Amino acid sequence: MIEIIPCLSDNYSYLIHEKISNTVTIVDPSEFKACDEVVKKYKKLNFILNTHHHADHVGANLELKKKYNSKILGSNIDKDRIPGIDILLIENQKQKIGNLEFEVIFVPGHTKGHIAFFFSKEKIVFTGDTLFSLGCGRVFEGTHEEMFNSLNKIKKLPPDTKIYCGHEYTESNFNFCLAYDPKNIFLKDKKIDIQKKLESNQPTIPSTLSQEIKTNIFLRCNDPQIKHTLGLKDSSEVEVFSKLRDLKDSF
Ligand code: ZN
Ligand code: FE
Repeated sequence: MIEIIPCLSDNYSYLIHEKISNTVTIVDPSEFKACDEVVKKYKKLNFILNTHHHADHVGANLELKKKYNSKILGSNIDKDRIPGIDILLIENQKQKIGNLEFEVIFVPGHTKGHIAFFFSKEKIVFTGDTLFSLGCGRVFEGTHEEMFNSLNKIKKLPPDTKIYCGHEYTESNFNFCLAYDPKNIFLKDKKIDIQKKLESNQPTIPSTLSQEIKTNIFLRCNDPQIKHTLGLKDSSEVEVFSKLRDLKDSF
């Protein structure tokens, strides 16, 4: 069972409760107070998973660890940047938390050590600031090519995989997709869905990979219509991606 915990202005932390072994895990605890409101119902917190080192994803690490004696898991590359880290994860590693198992997908670009957590049996992935619903993270520490390759790794997961990302950026991402992919009929349905959820104060998360492949412009860099709109008919997919990422930075 996953509880979505809204934090700060637009972050999401996620609590995973695995009932058989009663294991409680939180992904990217952003703010102590908001996270602890949910964690304290379970009276325990076994694990903290961090997708990357940014403060809005690790902000509650130390306070939660202190209160619940949790183990903190993150990328070995970020061993000096993730507060309180205990267990260093490497690319493709499989890791058990209670009866659940996830695979570490190495997705650099937003940061050098960014990872995603893929639960293959449950078909759930926590993507942090790499893949958002209808968007992707800014490229801060890596190259555009790295980010493009990272998104392609996520794109290869099973289509019915549920995507839990780090921020509620869906509506503004939608406006960007619409601006450069106006003929996409799937975007129209998506808009209705987004508005319904936001009007009733619900997260637009999770999305699914198949929905994202149909609507998220950053996963559609090979689409002839989009390439045409950008005037990049003969460009490679990664060139199209780089152009879109630059346009989005100033959108
Ligand atoms: Zn970030
Ligand atoms: Fe973030």
